[in-house]
Amino acid sequence: MKVLKFGGTSVANAENIQKVKAIVASEKVEKNMVIVVSALGGVTDLLLKTASLAVNHDETYKETLQYIEDRHLETIQNLIPITSQSPIISKVKQDLNQLETLFEGLFLLGEMTPRTSDKIVSYGELLSSYIISEYFKASQLDAALKDSRDLIKTNNQFGKALVDFKLTNTNCYFYFKSAKQLITVVPGFVSSTLEGETTTLGRGGSDYTAAIIAGATDANLLEIWTDVSGMYTANPKVVKQAKAIEKISYEEAMELSHFGAKVLYPPTVQPVLQKQIPILIKNTFKPEEIGTLIVKDEKSTELPVKGISNVDKVALLTLEGVGMVGIPGISKRLFEVLSQESISVILITQASSEHSICLGISAADTTRAKVAVNEAFAYEISLKKIEPANIESGLSIIALVGDQMKSHQGLSGKMFSTLGKNNVNIRAIAQGASERNISAVIDEKDVNKALNALHERFFEEQTKQLNLFVTGVGNVGEKFLAQIHQQKKFLKERLKLNVRVIALSNSKKMVFNENGISLSNWKEELAAGEVASLNGFFEKVKGLNLRNSIFVDNTANDVVAATYAPYLRNSIAVVTCNKIAAASDYKNYQLLKKLSFNYNAPFLFETNVGAGLPIIDTLKNLIASGDSIHTIKAVLSGSLNFVFNNFKESSTFHDVVQQAKKEGYTEPDPKIDLSGVDVARKILILARESGYQIDMENIENLPFLPQESLDTPTVPEFFETLKTHDAHFNALYEKAKANGARLKYVATFENGKAKVGLEEIPSDHPFYNLEGKDNIVLFYTDRYQEQPLLIKGAGAGADVTASGIFADIIRVGSN
Ligand code: ADP
Ligand code: ASP
Ligand code: MG
Repeated sequence: MKVLKFGGTSVANAENIQKVKAIVASEKVEKNMVIVVSALGGVTDLLLKTASLAVNHDETYKETLQYIEDRHLETIQNLIPITSQSPIISKVKQDLNQLETLFEGLFLLGEMTPRTSDKIVSYGELLSSYIISEYFKASQLDAALKDSRDLIKTNNQFGKALVDFKLTNTNCYFYFKSAKQLITVVPGFVSSTLEGETTTLGRGGSDYTAAIIAGATDANLLEIWTDVSGMYTANPKVVKQAKAIEKISYEEAMELSHFGAKVLYPPTVQPVLQKQIPILIKNTFKPEEIGTLIVKDEKSTELPVKGISNVDKVALLTLEGVGMVGIPGISKRLFEVLSQESISVILITQASSEHSICLGISAADTTRAKVAVNEAFAYEISLKKIEPANIESGLSIIALVGDQMKSHQGLSGKMFSTLGKNNVNIRAIAQGASERNISAVIDEKDVNKALNALHERFFEEQTKQLNLFVTGVGNVGEKFLAQIHQQKKFLKERLKLNVRVIALSNSKKMVFNENGISLSNWKEELAAGEVASLNGFFEKVKGLNLRNSIFVDNTANDVVAATYAPYLRNSIAVVTCNKIAAASDYKNYQLLKKLSFNYNAPFLFETNVGAGLPIIDTLKNLIASGDSIHTIKAVLSGSLNFVFNNFKESSTFHDVVQQAKKEGYTEPDPKIDLSGVDVARKILILARESGYQIDMENIENLPFLPQESLDTPTVPEFFETLKTHDAHFNALYEKAKANGARLKYVATFENGKAKVGLEEIPSDHPFYNLEGKDNIVLFYTDRYQEQPLLIKGAGAGADVTASGIFADIIRVGSN
């Protein structure tokens, strides 16, 4: 004998029910086969909604009732041949009339008891099982309907009745022993008291009905047919990468379902466990997939964690006070009062000091729990020995489940570090002594992120998804996107990094796509986007609350630079080539660094100095490994280097600067380069990263430009003054030449002080032969005293800058 249960989605409409029939018909039935069915998908909820409308004297309950009727009639019309429809339709209409009478009663009375509620919802399964059994008969299957209320007997705890197994088992045994038909269709979820009053087994209870019958009849297999291909490593609707678990133990399945894996109603395992009847979970819509087999002592996989699940709408009830220490019986009283109120406790933690007990309960029970607990401990509360019960809501539980977790060290460490890295705040922790489950209570808003991050950590062989939010798609931004596009496959295969661009923005438009923007036609997607706003962008990034989020600033804009703090505060990493934040006043720089540390959100700006050259990263590595920086000497301006490399007898200074501007080597206003401001910012950043507290005004800037040039208000006027001061520039050049030297614009940091200015570089100096727009940096440190550590190479250009940003992204990925 075999029991098959088909869930709400599987029997949602005629088309799906035809699939169910095909599955049933393809089974080789030798003896009795039991088909347990749910209500047509969504009907239980609709019945409850209609009831609540009626209770609230809202006439629109008639509309939802009509809709329920239409759905059932439509299903019959699409399944049963016209000639046989009439008696079936009239029976269903008769039932619906009874239902209508019940709703009218609710409307008049304005209240509903759990008893009436059970009566009402039972119609869902009673109607579906009737229609399906008639369809089976009409399809020449040897089928009959059996009302499960005659078989499954319960107490009168309406809403979630307790089964009288002795009676139920006997009923089932005798009924199926003498049943003549091969296929028996049975409504799930419904049952009845000894007096014959309708009860139900709790939401999702059709699974349980099937298990009860399987247990009672010694079935050799219980199949749960649903809308997913088994029990997954996490809820597949939340974690896209989740996979069906091939085999799992009864205990693991129970634990996962207790902690929210809705695919199996938690009590389902219990009736089949003792007789070791295997449970197979299958997908009605993909019957060819193997599904999940639930058996005894499943040890086939090396993975210690089998699945991750979550329970939403949880509240924490905390009872604490000095009066609790060392006094036996407090927990007993607490649990007793909750049990009297039929409030189930999902999770318990108690600190060993016994000063407080913290319980996880369903959010729906909070008011009742609070009142009952405060009443039970009123005496202690009045003496101030115990505080009134404290309730925190808006929480969820996430749990790692696996039989083998106990024989593996470090799993909880892994779990909590993963949550910590993603800024998921943990409100309470529990680990069962069986170590089959480690749970954490977290904020409901973090569940999606937490599940995905944990799934990645425990199931995806270290593949890490990086979610990028990119602003600035000009020269650098465009190159950056092209580089990611080109490297995507490599990153995934070799570095196990799955880089996705979730959002793009320029000053006009912004676009978001949670599944990743296509990097081959991002321009079109952006053009079709919404109007850009910096705050709107931030709010959306924050709202998405994705793991490993990175805000990438490819602009040189001060307003964008001013938005970093909120990103970091939300544990969103910031990667930027924009120098403005790191070179702003020290307080702001320090704040950003602190936020980055406190919120575990990298703030990386390698490209602020020397474009793609690994200057800041090298500096950080030196310091992290215990070295200390004494002196930095560097040529850090590609533009100034270009200018002085090309300024010779044959050219005027004015013309060379103009050429540099024309070729895009200078800022739009070349005075920013020539006045040394840009270089000063860079040495400032290097000094700060070396651990020194320093501000712009502490940097000595020895200008080589005449005061008149520095004072010009516009770019053309600036160029004019360069012409008038030709002799001044020529004299600088001639003097250097006479000394056998070359002119370089040098930044120096020494003894805690920084300066920038034009210097004559002798021919034996490493700066002498610096070509084109190259940069060079010399670090003199404890370890590099005589011979400095030298970094040299192209220090400007969109391509190398983009690759520097890319390198920072990879650094975030390996963080
Ligand atoms: P049915 O109506 O067939 O009983 P349910 O909606 O009760 O189906 O259960 C199936 C749903 O359970 C899936 O669609 C999925 O959203 C949810 N679910 C939650 N956690 C898991 C999990 N770990 N594995 C599979 N499904 C899960
Ligand atoms: N129809 C019931 C519910 O929606 C029982 C079930 O489908 O398992 O809760
Ligand atoms: Mg279900």
